[in-house]
Parts: sequence; C-alpha cells; structure tokens
Amino acid sequence: MKTEISIEFFPPQTPEGIDKLRATRARLAELKPTFFSVTYGAGGGTRERTIAVVKEIAAEGFDAAPHLSCIGSTRAGIREILGEYKAAGIRRTVALRGDLPSGMAEAGEFRYANELVEFIRAETGDWFSIEVAAYPEWHPQARSPRDDLKAFARKVKAGANSAITQYFYNADAYFNFVDEARALGVDVPIVPGIMPIAGFTKLARFSDACGTDIPRWMRKKFESYGDDVDSIRAFGLDVVTGLCEHLLKGGAPGLHFYCMNQAALTTEICRRLG
Ligand code: FAD
Repeated sequence: MKTEISIEFFPPQTPEGIDKLRATRARLAELKPTFFSVTYGAGGGTRERTIAVVKEIAAEGFDAAPHLSCIGSTRAGIREILGEYKAAGIRRTVALRGDLPSGMAEAGEFRYANELVEFIRAETGDWFSIEVAAYPEWHPQARSPRDDLKAFARKVKAGANSAITQYFYNADAYFNFVDEARALGVDVPIVPGIMPIAGFTKLARFSDACGTDIPRWMRKKFESYGDDVDSIRAFGLDVVTGLCEHLLKGGAPGLHFYCMNQAALTTEICRRLG
C-alpha cells in the first residue's frame, strides 16, 4: 500500500528562491504527495508570499495547504485571507497559533489555535479540511504534558480533521503521544512530522528552541563528524529512514516532510522506503 506523504515549504524571499522552489517542487511531485503545505509567518509577516506560493502550487494542479497562524491577527484579517483561499479553490489549511517575532507586541484577537479552528469552522463550515499541530515531546511553553495534551484535544474537538506533529527523533515519544491522545478520545490521524538532516549545528539550535530532543547517541555521532558533511548526510539519512520505517510499522498514518525547500534528502528517504 502506498504511504501517504505531504511536504512542507516556506515561502521564499527572493525571485531566485521562488525559481529554486519551482524546481524543488517539480522533483518532489514525483513522490505524488497528498498535498504541499506552505508556512505562514505569525502576525502576517509572509502573508503575500504565502498566498502567492499557494496559488502557484494550486495552479500546477496540486493540493495546496496554506498554514495560517492567528497570533497577532484580527478576525477581520483572518476572514479576508480565508475568503481569498476559498475563492482560489483551496480546500485545506494548517491552523496554528504561531509565535510572534520578537519586538512584535500586538497579540491580536486570538490567543490559541483552538480559537482559530473554531473561527474557521464558524466562518466557512466544512469547506476546509483543517490540520493542527501536535507535540509528542510537548510544546516548550506548555505548563505540563497533561495540559498540552488537553490543549491538543481541544483543538481537535474544535473541528480539526487531522494533526501533524513537530519533528522528533524518539519514536517512542510519538507512540506514547498517540496512545494518550486516543485515551482522551482524539480519533483523527496524527501524522508524524519528519525533519531530514542536512547539517547538525543549525538542527541542534533549532531543536533546542522548539523542544525537540536529539538523543545523545545521535548527537555524539554528529558532533564527532565535525565538518565532514558527507558523513553527516549519510548518518542523517540512515537515522531518519530508520525512524520512518519504525513509525510506519507502528501504525503511523503517513509522513509529513519538513523539506526546507530542498528535494534531495526527502526524495532519497522516500526512495529507500520504497
Ligand atoms: P496552540 O495549540 O495554541 O498551543 C500553544 C501553547 O499554548 C501550548 O503550550 C499549549 O499547551 C498552550 N495552550 C493551548 N491552549 C491553552 C489554554 N487555553 N490555556 C493555556 N495554555 C494553552 N508557526 C508559524 O508561525 N507558522 C507556520 O506556518 C507554522 N507551521 C507549523 C506547522 C507544524 C506542523 C507545527 C508542528 C508547527 C508549526 N509552527 C508554525 C509553529 C507553531 O506556530 C508554534 O509551535 C507555536 O508556538 C504553537 O502553535 P500551536 O498552533 O501549536 O499553538
């Protein structure tokens, strides 16, 4: 049976980046993803760029899922962007709270993602299939794992159809999260987010910020490779492919790739997965 995959992009800042993303997309299209999603800067920082990439993907005949983060936004602003996506025939969105960029103090009219999910349902009924974020290793601001799990269940209850997780390298964290969510009555698919590993320094910094644990055995090996990019890439591919195999064997309903606008690693992992 074919594994369902989806692939996430960020909206490029330059014309060269846009061209490069087109080439990346053409390669990744060969994997026949269910959808391509496009991130959205909290507070509307990437608004126009996200909309442009989403429309381009849809015009190429693919399912496009714009992310929509609500922190720093007004209801009127979100209503407008939903209207624009609806008019463009977009049927899926990833609904998030987002994180305000430092220095941006305006919190707006939404506090948490469940309020955005409720708003989308109230405004547009069943038009959109809504994805929400899930955190197998817990969101860094959560008061406790229990509170985070309840917040997740609340988002789903508000009308989400499916969830995508933060990336992680501990499969047990994912399986435990799914079991606990099921025990709370959450029955939507929880798709693991997969971050292919292109380099270690940036990944380590980013993982610290978003609360992803890089297990010691992996960290030690990556550190031992120093600047040897070929070894980092080879080990990263082995680790992430093994993780994907383990997740799929354990019942994961699909895979969502954070491809960082690059085709090579995601393509290679999928090739190895067959
Ligand atoms: P929420 O579900 O609202 O949760 C945020 C925090 O608040 C959690 O700690 C939760 O436990 C807590 N919480 C929730 N409800 C309550 C309550 N009622 N009372 C007290 N605490 C509560 N960011 C972007 O800016 N743009 C993107 O495009 C983007 N895409 C992403 C895609 C995926 C798949 C994932 C996993 C993350 C993405 N992010 C994106 C990052 C995300 O916006 C951040 O992780 C953000 O900090 C939380 O967003 P959320 O939607 O999970 O928030």
